Amino acid sequence: MPDDAIVEVEGIGKTYPGGVEALRNVNLAFPRGKLSTLLGPSGCGKTTLLKIIAGLIPHNAGEVRVNGEKIQGPGPERAFVFQDFALMPWATVLRNVAFGLELRGVPRAQRETTARRYIAEMGLSGFEASHPNQLSGGMRQRVGLARALAVDADIILMDEPFSSVDEQTRRKFQEDLLDLLRHRRKTVIFVTHSIEEAAYLSDQIALLSPRPGTVSKIIRPNVDHGRSADEIRRDRNYLDTVDEIWQILKQYV
Ligand code: ADP
Ligand code: MG
Repeated sequence: MPDDAIVEVEGIGKTYPGGVEALRNVNLAFPRGKLSTLLGPSGCGKTTLLKIIAGLIPHNAGEVRVNGEKIQGPGPERAFVFQDFALMPWATVLRNVAFGLELRGVPRAQRETTARRYIAEMGLSGFEASHPNQLSGGMRQRVGLARALAVDADIILMDEPFSSVDEQTRRKFQEDLLDLLRHRRKTVIFVTHSIEEAAYLSDQIALLSPRPGTVSKIIRPNVDHGRSADEIRRDRNYLDTVDEIWQILKQYV
């Protein structure tokens, strides 16, 4: 395993009660400060693997190490952004963003100050007292992201976070996420089923094959994010990566 790996997954196997074998012998290293993607068709075990890394569900074989230590459950260095953002519909934006800190026992005044800062950073100032059903899908997404950032975890685990927003909003979020990596040196483990999204965002892509889910290939796109989004999407490297992934994934269609 490379020594700059912040998360290491070794020999992970998972069979759900009832007998579905979701993962078999998954081995992966996630480099610190980089964005790694789990990519594969629906049902190949992406969410299962992410939840195991988060410590949210048990596994049957192998181990996950964070900073070299075997995990025993969830931890403050890992924040999980759910597919549907898992916002509390009865709570205000402020409380939703502060919720991760509330769970960690941070006093109210302090957590609200922090939450307001991330609300502003996500362009949601003025909506602190609104409820999720008063916001657009894109705004709810930003509330979910603000909540994950507010706990200041080093590792952010994101399960298809942009799947329910329109394409324009999705591209805006992709830029926000890349900015986040540039400026805060977070490690992101990102789940998507979009080949283009994976090729565009990732430093490393783990392709998963289904039944049972296992790593079929690791791809390192080597896209230069110093250039504009439009330039990247016309770049040979990027287009070749998209094609390379498609040639593998089309076997599972
Ligand atoms: P993905 O996120 O890649 O779509 P999942 O991790 O959700 O895949 O699911 C992997 C496999 O495990 C699928 O066959 C799915 O039906 C099964 N599975 C997921 N969650 C459960 C569960 N709670 N109980 C039983 N089987 C499950
Ligand atoms: Mg999933």
